[in-house]
Amino acid sequence: MERLEKKTALVTGSSRGIGRAVARGLAEEGALVAVHYAAQRDAAEETVRLIEGDGGRAFAVQAELGVPGDVHELFLGLEHELKARTGETVLDILVNNAAITTPAGQSPEEVTPEDLDRLYAVNVKAPFFIVQRALALLSDGGRIINVSSGLTRLANPEQVAYSMTKGAIEQITLHFARHLAPRGITVNTVAPGITNNGSAIFDVPEAVQQMAQLSAFKRVGEAEDVADVIRFLATDEARWITGSFVDASGGTLLG
Ligand code: NDP
Repeated sequence: MERLEKKTALVTGSSRGIGRAVARGLAEEGALVAVHYAAQRDAAEETVRLIEGDGGRAFAVQAELGVPGDVHELFLGLEHELKARTGETVLDILVNNAAITTPAGQSPEEVTPEDLDRLYAVNVKAPFFIVQRALALLSDGGRIINVSSGLTRLANPEQVAYSMTKGAIEQITLHFARHLAPRGITVNTVAPGITNNGSAIFDVPEAVQQMAQLSAFKRVGEAEDVADVIRFLATDEARWITGSFVDASGGTLLG
């Protein structure tokens, strides 16, 4: 039997990259998946097509995060589609995956207040209010999985602003894990290391070779490496894990 049969899931930022692999993984287990995206509708529709091609169920939902009214718009679309497909608006699994990063090579001296506001708006404020808004929809025994980064455990000055936001999302995990335990809802953090998200840099062999050295396994992560961990945390088999920081960095944090 599929482990997530009759479950519903929202994966933010699942038009591409890790989010797409997460959406596919959850759908493979039988969940009906909301494939959220900001701008790349074609990519989101491709994720839905891939899921349907595998025999799964999914729909796309658009909302740019980090702008006024973002979470409301996301949930309007989500609730409408859930209602149409299931007759109710119950959400069993929430994966806060969508995020933006600091531009490559930006030194700490170059970070502006506007940069920080934008990073916090998308990577912290949006997930916080998504969790808050989801509370009314989440089933008892539900799952929240927040995607952080190994960079909260590893110094990289060029990523200080981004890493600050990931530190904050780990706090959402910690405090909501306690808050939601009476309902049997688990809340966990998954922290990827460098993971092939399909962006151009992963087509450059020398760059990939260099990035691979950071992992104990001497390769960059594939989106499925991270998605499989998230998939496990979404299942009943992970019911005794809450408030955890799960290192999904291929041993990058071993140093
Ligand atoms: P990608 O950059 O490949 O994809 C980002 C996703 O988020 C897309 O679906 C995009 O939608 C969506 N998104 C981006 N900005 C917004 C926004 N303002 N509002 C709504 N949606 C938005 O991400 P990755 O797969 O690389 O990363 C996924 C998660 O993993 C992130 O939380 C990231 O911080 C974390 N991570 C990634 C690592 C890596 O090496 N890849 C390493 C460590 C952590 P659209 O397609 O419409 O633009």
